[in-house]
Formats: sequence, structure tokens, C-alpha cells
Amino acid sequence: MYDALNALKVNSDEVYTVRDFDLRHDAVHLTFTQGQLAFLQPFQGKITGAVFTGRGKLLTVPRDPTEKASAARFLGTAVIDEDFTGIYIRFDDDTAAEILSRLHEANITPQRDAGISEEWDTTVATLGPWHSLRILTDLLSEHPMPYFYTAVLGSKTGPFDALVDERRAEQVVLGQPKTVDGEMSYDFWTSFARPHTTEPAAPFIPERYALDTTVQPDLELTGAATLTIRAARAGERVVPLELSKFLRVDSVTDDAGHALEFFQSEPGIRQEIAVRGDDSLTVILPQPTATGETIRLRATYRGHVITQAAVGVFVVGEHGSWYPHISGVDSFATFDLSFKWPQAVQLVATGEKLDEKEDGDWREAHWRSDKPIFVAGFNLGAYREFNVDSAGLKIDLFANARLDQALQPTLRAPVIQTPFPSTSVNGNVVKVLTEKMPTANISPDATIVIHRLGDEIGQATQFFSRYGGPFPYKQLEVSQIPGNFGQGWPGLIYLPTFSFLSREAQRRLGLTEAHQDHFTEIVPYHEVAHQWWGNLVVWHSYRDQWICEGLANYISLLFADSRKDSDHALNIWLARYRDSLLSKVPGKDINIDSSGPLTLGFRLNSSVNPKGYEEVVYAKATWVFHMLHMMLRDPQAKDPDARFVALLRGLAESHRDAVLTTDDLQSAVEKVMLPSMDLEGGHSMDWFFDQYVRGTGIPQYKVDFTVQHGASADQFVVKGVLHQANVPGDFLASVPLYASYSGGKPILLGHVSTSGADTPFRFTTHVSPKHILIDPELTLLSQADRGTEQVH
Ligand SMILES: [Zn+2]
Repeated sequence: MYDALNALKVNSDEVYTVRDFDLRHDAVHLTFTQGQLAFLQPFQGKITGAVFTGRGKLLTVPRDPTEKASAARFLGTAVIDEDFTGIYIRFDDDTAAEILSRLHEANITPQRDAGISEEWDTTVATLGPWHSLRILTDLLSEHPMPYFYTAVLGSKTGPFDALVDERRAEQVVLGQPKTVDGEMSYDFWTSFARPHTTEPAAPFIPERYALDTTVQPDLELTGAATLTIRAARAGERVVPLELSKFLRVDSVTDDAGHALEFFQSEPGIRQEIAVRGDDSLTVILPQPTATGETIRLRATYRGHVITQAAVGVFVVGEHGSWYPHISGVDSFATFDLSFKWPQAVQLVATGEKLDEKEDGDWREAHWRSDKPIFVAGFNLGAYREFNVDSAGLKIDLFANARLDQALQPTLRAPVIQTPFPSTSVNGNVVKVLTEKMPTANISPDATIVIHRLGDEIGQATQFFSRYGGPFPYKQLEVSQIPGNFGQGWPGLIYLPTFSFLSREAQRRLGLTEAHQDHFTEIVPYHEVAHQWWGNLVVWHSYRDQWICEGLANYISLLFADSRKDSDHALNIWLARYRDSLLSKVPGKDINIDSSGPLTLGFRLNSSVNPKGYEEVVYAKATWVFHMLHMMLRDPQAKDPDARFVALLRGLAESHRDAVLTTDDLQSAVEKVMLPSMDLEGGHSMDWFFDQYVRGTGIPQYKVDFTVQHGASADQFVVKGVLHQANVPGDFLASVPLYASYSGGKPILLGHVSTSGADTPFRFTTHVSPKHILIDPELTLLSQADRGTEQVH
């Protein structure tokens, strides 16, 4: 069936000449102004595609303001209205029957015309395989969920896609691939769920993974996975799984041991590849599922996903896709992991280690997740191990004995030695457990850094439990990976080599002060914070991922700021993030903030800004949580932060082992909001979320003011205007103004709630302000003149 679908050609025996013919499929409205239309050859009596050459146009109106702004960012207009010179359409519903009956009504009869085949055959052969698996999924299903796709040859914009797929949560997508500086990105002009539909349930839900994995001496990974999954929908035969394309599948069998058909890394829908990569494994069941049926699949596979970065230093490249699984962060399941690996190295994994034994040249061990988790991982290396006990939580650190090869040439001179600490602050006792790597050339300062790191990670777990409740897992394994990024998985975090180095070593490797701060103050604690925000509580769709990133980052900054030597870490980072959001995208005349709003998630990586996700999400989401924190703060209370802490604590409790959406967060904030936050009335935080989460724009503020004597000698009347720029006229904010005067600390005059570009204000005070300071405490993401002098 798959091969036959791939081989379909244009049927040039029946070509229709059409004029002003309309075809509407949901939000996609096609007009064939004039040209020739032909269908693809039928497959099993069913037509699944058509081509058109001529003049026409496509019209789609994106659904909400965020999506309209997204279309405008790429196309200059909020409505997608594009002329085309040709289109290729695929579908598995009754589109062909509809077109045919209307052609019949209009008395249009087909003619033979070989020209259209010549024109389209190459394109049809290339594009066909992208759609075959998707069409096959419906053809094999007892309850098909229609698919409608058009590749459009846009006159102005070049080729683009328009998709309406009932199996997607957001059924309607329009966009195009774009290459910027040799890097391919996919521009999602718009993506939205059709009104009044509920999200389709995932067809399969994972329950348990049993993974039997061997790491060979040459680093090849061989695996056998047994997946226990539940059919959430009846009548399906196609199981979509994810597995690294570097692991080749040898076999997939069912519970009875029968071999099943499967497809690996076959071409797929471009929008899906943009999200997940082409690590697909598609398994065909022998018969349709019954609702709630439990299915057991066994897959065997092998390949190279582990590389060596130096002697004893390894990278598990595909550390999220080294086993076949149902993708999606809300796919919680239990994991049983068995590993066998060469005795010379150590291996760490997610879950609780049940046993480990040595057998000649090999080691073997088992891990089991102590509660359902959404991802399992492992890491290995010639480690030195350090153990920390933090208020009963066991933390194990696994540091590479050697430096990554890539960093060695840069780091030459020996580092300064400092005395070896025997115990450390706050009662977190640190001990070196293993000395068994004779080749270990870990530098003395690295040992000290690792002790401090372990100690501070211990403190961080205690600090974070204030915001998220007790540590969610039985233990925490902290392992090193070469490179410059970290990842925090359930009970196992990966920290980059840079985080294991002293500032001195980082400096000698050429890291700027901001980068040193990043790897020292943020990365380790950000990944620890993901144990709560990202693992215990997960995001729902890409539109909600900013919440976990923002919270992990913000509370790691609160932790950095809480330390005695912090030197205002929080304010330094807030200013850095603000300045970065206001800086220009290289080569573009827009600032980074304008790359798009937080709720676009991975879609922020586009031709507008190929680094959009990374550059926007961490900076802006951190600010969003800071602003919520500051608005909820009560300086008079015994614990000024109690409201913010309770908000997060409540979310961690109500959404544990579950998803948290932007709407969930907004309604939780609305439950605890203070009257001072109700800027638009109606007890709603729409204004805040629309401006900073679902929209873009950072306001700029300036003040003009005069001072007059008040009724008494020690009273002054400060009158003026607050100017707001760079945002729409209806942008709301509550801007704190402070008076600075000679002989004392600035005092708060009050807050000005902006309405439009110029908002007048009047305050009475007992000092005569020399300057007015706009939000000197950094409570508001804005660009402000720090001090303004009185106008004379
Ligand atoms: Zn993160």
C-alpha cells in the first residue's frame, strides 16, 4: 500500500479546464481563477490528490490576535492572501467527490492532456512519499480523521504549505521552509485549532517501558525494548513512535512474537519534522485496536549514538531518543532499565538503582523509576564520584576525570591550588567515594569546584522545595556532559563541562563574565529546578513550555540572589535580559523581543530570528515571573513573598504529574491577584498575559514634572506627565515613580497607571524631588530613563 501510494501519478486522461472555481476546506479558501485541474490516479478506487496549473489565490484568516501578529511578522499583513501559479493537493476525505460533482454541475467535461503530467510528474514523485504514511494511517483506520494538504506555488512568497489535519491538536497550519545563512528553519505563519473543537486524544498512551541495553566496547548501542501501551482510541492500526534515526531497527514483534511491519525515518510531513526531527518509527498493528486494549510491542535496534569527546569522556548524543517511545511530554510511564557495559566506565541512569554487578569485563545494573516519568536517560564515563546528603536527599555527582578534548588546547597553564575542604557549610557533608580511576587527571581546582557544586546543589534542592514542595524523586544524579548546555531529567541532570570548572578556568577558556555567571550561577540550578518545573509539572503544548523554562530560570536566580556572595545576582540578570531583549536581531531592524511572543515556543526559531526561542524565552519568561512576583509582593507583611510562594506551591500541588497550561497559570494568578493588579477591571489578568505572554512589546518611559509648595511648609506637590512609547496606545502598566532628593534614599511617590501615550499625575510629598526615578527597583520590564530632572 505504501509503495503504491508513493507511485501515484497524475491522471492526464481527465484534465479539467476551470474558471473561478472555489474550494473551501475549513480555514483554507482556494480560488482557481483560471487554469487546468487534474487528479492523481485513484488508489483502491479512492482519489487522494490533485494538481492545478494556472492563476488562483489562497485566503486564510488567522484565528486570534497572536496568530494574526504571527502572519504579519512574516507576510506584512494579518490576513494570508496569496496569489499562486500552481498547487498540489493531497487529501483522504471526500474532497475529490465534491470537486467532481461541482465540475459535473457546471458541465465541465475532461479532456486528455499529456502536458499536465509532464509538468507535474517529478514534483508528484518527490512530494508523494511525504503524505503516504499519513494517508495510510487513515486508510487503515476504522475511524479516519481527515487530512487535507496543499503545496502552493506562491507568486510573491514562493512555495508554501497549507494544512488542515484532524489528527493535529492545532488542525490548521500555514507556513514555509526558509533557509537563512545555510540553516533551514520552518516559518509557521500561523497554526491554530479550529473553533469549537476539542483536542483529539492521543491514539496510544504509554504505560511501561522495559529497556534492555548493551553498550559495546566500540560504543555501539544494542537494545531491546518492550513497550506496554494502551489504545485510547478504537479502530487504529498505525502506532507512531520516536527513535533516533541513528539506531536502525532490526525487528518489531507483537506479544505473540509475530513480526510486524514498520517504517523508520520515512519522509514525513514537514511541519512534524520541524517539531520532532525525522526520528520516526511507525509500526503497523495486525488488526485495529479496541478502546482501552493493552498492546505489547518488542523492538530490537542497534547503532551509534554515543561518541567519545576525550579518553573516558563520552557523549550520549541522542539522549532523548535512544529508545522507541511515544513522544510528548505528558506521556508519563514507568521505566525498567537494564544496562550492560564495559567494566572500565561508570553508567548512571534515571530511576532508582536496584543492583549492580561486575562480570569479567562487563558490568550490569538495573534501574526502576520510583514513579511515572516522561523520559528516561543515561550517561556514562570514566567518572569520579562525589556524594552529598542534603537534608536526607542523596545527591551523587559524576564528574569526568578528564577535560573534553575540544577544550584541552585552550586550557594550558596549571590552575591555582586551594586547600581541600573536608566539610562544608549548612551541614551538607561531601566525601570523595571513588578513587578508582588511575588515569584521572582531573585538576585540583576541579575537585574543589565539584565539592562546592555538590554542596550548592544540595542547598538549591532545599531552597526550591519552598516553591515546589518536597524533592520529587528518591535521589538526584548529577552527571557531566561535554558541550555548553545542560538538561534536567527526572532524577538525573546533565551539566556541561563549563559548570564543572572554576571561574579562573572558565576565564582562561575565553568565557566572558556574563558567560561565567551563566555556567556558574544559573545552569546547574536551572537544571535542578526542572525537577519540579518540567518533570513533576510538565507543559502541555509548545505554547506552554515557556512556563517551565521561565520558572526554572527565575527560581534559580532567586537562589543565586539568596546567597551571601550573590552581589545582586537577580538585578544583574534582569538588566542583562532586558538589554538583550531590547538589542537588535543581527542583520535585522527589529529587536529580539519582536521575534515573537512567549506562547509561540519553538516557532520563535524562524527566518525572523533563527535563535528566537533561546533569545526570547529565557529572558522574557524570567521577567514575566519576576513581574508577577513583584506585583504579588506585600512589603508590609511578615513574609512579603508569601503570596508568590503560595501561588507556585499551589501549582506544584494541583498540577503534579500533570500538565500546566498558560491558561491554568493565568487563572491561578487571578485567584490571588491584589486590587492593585486589576488594571483593566473585571478581576482579570488578561492585560498582563496579552501584553507580555501572548504579545510582544516593551514600553519606554519618560517623565516631565514640576514641583510646587503645598499647603504647609514641609509639603510639596509634584505634578507631571508620564510618557509611554514603543507599545500600542492601549498598553496598560502600573509604573512606580520615586523621588530622589538630597540627603536621603529615594522615596516612593506612588504608582501611575498608564492610559495612552501621556498620563498626567499628581503626588503630594514631604521632600522636594530633584529627580524622578522610574522603577529604579526593576519591577517592570521596560526601557526607562533612570532619572529625570524637573522641567523649568
Ligand atoms: Zn531549561
